Amino acid sequence: MDLLKTLVEKGLRREQPTREEALAVLATSDDELLDVVAAAGKVRRQWFGRRVKLNYLVNLKSGLCPEDCSYCSQRLGSTADILKYTWLKPEEASRAAAAGVAGGAKRVCLVASGRGPTDRDIDRVSKTIEAIKEENEGVEVCACLGLLSAGQGERLRTAGADAYNHNLNTSESTYGDITTTHTYADRVETVHRAQAAGLSACSGLIAGMGESDADLVDVVFSLRALDPDSVPVNFLIPFEGTPLAEEWNLTPQRCLRILAMVRFVCPDVEVRLAGGREVHLRSLQPLALHLVNSIFLGDYLTSEGQEGRKDLEMIADAGFTVEGADETTLPAHRAQAAGHACGEGRACAEEGSPDGAPAAAGRGAAGSGRGQDVPAQGAAADAARSDLVAVRRRGAGTDLAPNA
Ligand code: SF4
Repeated sequence: MDLLKTLVEKGLRREQPTREEALAVLATSDDELLDVVAAAGKVRRQWFGRRVKLNYLVNLKSGLCPEDCSYCSQRLGSTADILKYTWLKPEEASRAAAAGVAGGAKRVCLVASGRGPTDRDIDRVSKTIEAIKEENEGVEVCACLGLLSAGQGERLRTAGADAYNHNLNTSESTYGDITTTHTYADRVETVHRAQAAGLSACSGLIAGMGESDADLVDVVFSLRALDPDSVPVNFLIPFEGTPLAEEWNLTPQRCLRILAMVRFVCPDVEVRLAGGREVHLRSLQPLALHLVNSIFLGDYLTSEGQEGRKDLEMIADAGFTVEGADETTLPAHRAQAAGHACGEGRACAEEGSPDGAPAAAGRGAAGSGRGQDVPAQGAAADAARSDLVAVRRRGAGTDLAPNA
């Protein structure tokens, strides 16, 4: 296909595809899917070889959020049966982080529910970052605490944070359908604040909320313009008890097309396969390793992931290697521009998040009219499939050993 040849050439030159080219990737047929994966895989290997970076989530504070993000199991009014607890103590968070590092994670993502941190929260998280860095030499720490106020990013950086996650999640034009308690512009401002503080920015999206192909391309182009160092791609986990509980719009093939499109638009950026990997890609997970260079190990914020051991086996079986602490994640031109020890530049869905990590999602039950151009594929769009959504019952905030 001429399209794929062009996209590979552009990806190798770090040149942005056109909107039409990005849309065409999403419109490819199942017959063309392996060609799409092979083409995007060439771009992935050019910038990241066959390395897979492992990241580990620690949910510092779970549930009871006053915000209304409709994809999130921790939102205002959520009746999802998730764990709810307030701030972990620094030593508890450090213990949880150590399990992930022992499993091969080189980055720990510290996530807290809420609109954004108070200055007292920043004090707490700073102590937690210091405890984790003291106990786990060389580990990268990313904070994901919601909207940042002036000066908070700088304080986190001083405490030793390497990165800050805050996702755009969806296109600007549809953001109001997903959340009403804050705006898309608020989110963009927080990413800018993190970058200005010298933190490596991590910002991504959630697919499967009923958005159109044009919405997906919009948000990925907006991310390219923001220039984060890492882009987590979440696939909505439709939690029972959230407005999006019945939004099953994704098939494994569509997930692969979305990941390929993100790779072509953000060729030299750490593209991380985040929440929803297991429930939406299912047996096609290994193919996604040809597109992304980063995944979460083990569980997500409020939902269970594949066993950490199986993640490691999958990586080895597919012919990839786990990125070591002594390897630099980003290509030289980005790492040098960044000047961070972690190799990330300036800059949670699971639930994505408070914005990034993998956990919940979906569009409001009232519907928004979006998604009408998303074809109902296979089992998608059927009734809620709660059998596929397992709530996390171990790790941080419990007495049970974490999955790492
Ligand atoms: S995504 Fe974050 S801000 Fe939104 S409801 Fe969930 S925890 Fe709260």
